Amino acid sequence: MKKNKVVIFWFRRDLRLADNRGLQQAIASGYAVLPIFIFDSDILTRLATRYDRRVDYIHQALHAMNVTLQKHGSTLHTYSGVPLDVIKMICQEYDVQGLYCNGDYEPQAIKRDDAVQRDLKEIGIPCYASKDQVIFEKSEVVKADGSPYTVYTPYAKKWKSMLQPAHYGQETIALENFYKAAFQDIISLETLGFQKTDLVFEQPQLAIDIIKDYGEKRDFPALDHTTRLGIALRFGTISIRKCVDFALKNNETWLSELIWREFFMQILYHFPQVVTASFKPKYDAIEWRNNEVEFERWCSGKTGYPIVDAGMRQLNKTGFMHNRVRMVVASFLCKHLLIDWRWGEAYFAQKLLDYDLAANNGNWQWVAGSGCDAAPYFRIFNPTAQTLKFDEDLLYVKTWNPDYGQLLEAPIVGHEFARARALQAYQAALQDK
Ligand code: FAD
Repeated sequence: MKKNKVVIFWFRRDLRLADNRGLQQAIASGYAVLPIFIFDSDILTRLATRYDRRVDYIHQALHAMNVTLQKHGSTLHTYSGVPLDVIKMICQEYDVQGLYCNGDYEPQAIKRDDAVQRDLKEIGIPCYASKDQVIFEKSEVVKADGSPYTVYTPYAKKWKSMLQPAHYGQETIALENFYKAAFQDIISLETLGFQKTDLVFEQPQLAIDIIKDYGEKRDFPALDHTTRLGIALRFGTISIRKCVDFALKNNETWLSELIWREFFMQILYHFPQVVTASFKPKYDAIEWRNNEVEFERWCSGKTGYPIVDAGMRQLNKTGFMHNRVRMVVASFLCKHLLIDWRWGEAYFAQKLLDYDLAANNGNWQWVAGSGCDAAPYFRIFNPTAQTLKFDEDLLYVKTWNPDYGQLLEAPIVGHEFARARALQAYQAALQDK
């Protein structure tokens, strides 16, 4: 039987039909575009629980795209399995002229994509990866000698100096050119072995009332005055170009946060060893206490420090934690409890809706002092002083600790004692031997 000629567009962390660079390229090929998504069994089996809002988020975002595709006589083809196997299977079913996708810069994703590209090349199918999830990728923003930046401020300065309107121009996509097929539902969560959660997907919006005074209000957790676009940026339900365009018009501080995102992405790309090791190797000599009982108290929000407990409870309940509080709880774990930052990083990875390897790792190492351009190790957040400064009326603390005032837990450790102990442990590791 004659097979249908198509090009594949493989959605990954770019779950939108608007302003999607790789999809645009696929459509420009002139062939009918077969849109696919693969629930990657290598990723799904590693998740700690079957009740995962991120899987549900992906599922609902795919459904939203599928409804639009249906209106254009097409459908999203969804699969579950190892991507390479699935793609090879699709190549047997169709006469595939090329595979299009958007680049992904995480070490595992690079490995996966290299394998796909290698195998498809052998059977004469070219692969094309576009830049989509960032404004500048890989080695586009580097020092004059070609080496990567490891300090944020000069990186951001160069990033801004290179930015041209073409970098954040948005493209309209002709939705007519998809492969025509009868509508198919997305593989159900149950089939994937997951449960429906309480998450309700909404198309991400850029809220001017949040972004216009972001700089003044973003540090106060009770105001909840950040965009909550982390998950949308993670899964690409919003275009980074749209965000940058909006930031340029409305708020420089918010633009800086988007640049931090790319800064950590390029750090991970150039220094993939940070996934398991300290960016500054000396910090791997720290003698962590790694007390499991204390770790459990930190995870469950029972340290007796109200701001820390509020943050952890917000995280456990909602999958979100305010950035200021993320810094406080992370510092508390590494410094007050002397627990390896990797333990905290792994816990955040399980819980955060907006979990992103580059941002999570970069920020944990920043707090622990072990990262590039990190906070100096002797900067130890005082949770009480942070509360007075950023949650003076205890609105945030009381929201997430309804038992505030009748807390049973005594503080897990005294601040001054813990501070001195941390300084001693860090100094012992960092002194020149
Ligand atoms: P906004 O404040 O509105 O910022 C807009 C976007 O800019 C964010 O959604 C994010 O994509 C990016 N951004 C903002 N701050 C940072 C930053 N410091 N580093 C990198 N990107 C940033 N952010 C993640 O996206 N994923 C993570 O897994 C993650 N883990 C973190 C772990 C720790 C210990 C700390 C201290 C911070 C972490 N952050 C992480 C950074 C930051 O806390 C979140 O991006 C932010 O709180 C998300 O809220 P928002 O979407 O309302 O962001």
